[in-house]
Amino acid sequence: MQKGKIGVTTENIFPIIKKFLYSDHEIFLREIISNAVDATQKLKTLASVGEFKGELGDLTIKVSVDKKAKTITVSDRGIGMTAEEIDKYLNQIAFSGAEEFVEKYKNQANGIIGHFGLGFYSSFMVSDKVEVITRSFRDGASAVKWECDGNPEFSLEDAPRQDRGTDIVLHVSADSEEFLEESRIETLLTKYCKFLPIPIAFGTEKEWKDGKEVETGKANIINDTNPLWTRKPADLNDEDYAKFYHDLYPVAEEPLFNIHLNVDYPFNLTGVLYFPRIKSNFDIQKNKIQLYCNQVYVTDSVEGIVPEFLTLLHGVIDSPDIPLNVSRSYLQSDGNVKKISSHVTKKVADRLNDIFKNDRAQFEKKWDDLKLFITFGMITDEKFYERAEKFALLKSTSGKYFTLEEYQTLIKDSQTDKNKTLIYLYTTNQEEQYSYIEAAKNKGYDVILMDGQLDPHFINHMESKLKDSRFVRVDSDVVDKLIVKEDRKELSLAAEEQSQLRSVFEGVLPEKQHYWVSFEELGENAQPVVITQSEFMRRMKDMSAMNQMASIYGNMPNSLNLVVNASHPLVKSVIEQKNSTLSAQLAGISNEEQPLKKRVEELDAKLKDKKDEEVAQADKDERADLEKKLDEVDSKRTSILKDFGKDYKLVKQLVDLALLSNNMLKGEDLSQFVKRSVELIKP
Ligand code: ADP
Repeated sequence: MQKGKIGVTTENIFPIIKKFLYSDHEIFLREIISNAVDATQKLKTLASVGEFKGELGDLTIKVSVDKKAKTITVSDRGIGMTAEEIDKYLNQIAFSGAEEFVEKYKNQANGIIGHFGLGFYSSFMVSDKVEVITRSFRDGASAVKWECDGNPEFSLEDAPRQDRGTDIVLHVSADSEEFLEESRIETLLTKYCKFLPIPIAFGTEKEWKDGKEVETGKANIINDTNPLWTRKPADLNDEDYAKFYHDLYPVAEEPLFNIHLNVDYPFNLTGVLYFPRIKSNFDIQKNKIQLYCNQVYVTDSVEGIVPEFLTLLHGVIDSPDIPLNVSRSYLQSDGNVKKISSHVTKKVADRLNDIFKNDRAQFEKKWDDLKLFITFGMITDEKFYERAEKFALLKSTSGKYFTLEEYQTLIKDSQTDKNKTLIYLYTTNQEEQYSYIEAAKNKGYDVILMDGQLDPHFINHMESKLKDSRFVRVDSDVVDKLIVKEDRKELSLAAEEQSQLRSVFEGVLPEKQHYWVSFEELGENAQPVVITQSEFMRRMKDMSAMNQMASIYGNMPNSLNLVVNASHPLVKSVIEQKNSTLSAQLAGISNEEQPLKKRVEELDAKLKDKKDEEVAQADKDERADLEKKLDEVDSKRTSILKDFGKDYKLVKQLVDLALLSNNMLKGEDLSQFVKRSVELIKP
């Protein structure tokens, strides 16, 4: 028997490795099995070039657990190792690999992903002792047994083994006994080894017989050695893709489309990506793209490897060219990774464009499900935006879909304002903003639906992209002012009349909310009273709510506009009623007011060119007194007008109707409205 010390300077590196990879102990199984797969594939290669002339036979790799002996054994029939090879690969290379790893990461325990880089030695994370019993495929090679208990000391001796290949026997340590549970090993095999290219057997298949589960004697193969992404697209049909998706995500809904990726230059990458139906945020977090390296599962967190919006996709990416044992920030700056990222983006955009071009009907049908993904991509990825511009759709409230270009053509003539700005009218809720949408449509405008989660961002983004274009929500102003085509006409309502009417309406406005009362001539067929909120104010408030930022806009009261349609017959009748009911009272107030105003004018004329210090105190006092009296008169008038508004049911009714059509009339106010309506209808 030969004894030796492995050539590393670090006294005992295993405790350090254990600490580094604490959360990732389970990867030992992947590492050991990957090595067995490599050894088997090497043998197949040698056979194919004629260097190995023997029988390949059954190449299945066997994994077994002996709970009593507390061992896990992985056996392969690959190339095996001679004593010299053990010395070279395990004693020198593998150990130095482990040492290098520790050296590299000793100051950044959190920065590592913990995938690969450790290989064989990761088995010491879960073992007190590891035995390797191996026999090289070479003619005349004898079998050897290597043993190591984790200190850099090993023993090597001859061993009885007839067959070529390697058994790795892990003597599981007390703190890792969870790995002696069959179910745990089964879970790990499913996670890491499901698509390895050499069959892996774990125990035997069981079946139900006479109400009992019995062994069938047939090896239980846990993997699919030819997963879908390794096959040629020409050999696959829709069902194959659907089945594979189902294997990956058993409970997810059927996906919308798939993309088969296959690149071999300038980097190697294969994979199949699916566009999922995203129903909720929960779905987004649950199912993820899986990253493989030569069919070995690596991770399902692909952030940094594909652009963020592509992480919404499902499926598999397999590439030996992605460096795996480096930190995320390094990954993002890696040239290869960048190329992979932009290639995948391009492929995804191309695929969408193909479907759009070849089967627009299908594309439109799936648009609502695709929209979140595509808008996310357009907002966050410039390259994707450039491609998506051609197939991104706008959905009109009429139910039709338009590309950006088609839509511009559609609205160019009717929705360009006097400053040559193209106005995109949109709604965020077709039900709640129904009356505004109708008003816009009656005016010959089109309204698009922007009710998606990302639409506020998307709108901002589009405004920065499209020249001379603006998005305006359909309820942000009265229809005539949504798209201003010419300078405004003077209102026929005199200023005096407007001010009186404003007080009448203010008498009945809800107290909880501030309204600016204004007047427009919207025509007899428009609503008598309309409530609007300025696009600017609403966006500022929406944005600050989204950013959870206590900005000045967020703290501002929600100010709305109450627009009174002065040309509506009902409003005219309010004016008439006010004038006939209040004429005597208003005239009285006017009589009181006239002399005061006249005196103010006289005083102002007298004091016009004087500086403040030249004005006599008596004049100053009189001026102040007049102001006070005028204020009193004015508030007397205001309160008369407000009282009139309160008493005259029609005014309250008009305001309530406007509130009602915005879904803003609730509770007691609503029930009062119903009662009042019945009274008004009564014959
Ligand atoms: P890596 O697999 O990254 O090269 P490892 O530390 O996992 O590093 O393994 C070191 C070397 O030991 C391998 O390159 C291989 O030559 C040899 N080896 C490991 N396991 C086996 C096996 N089951 N059969 C044959 N050779 C093996």
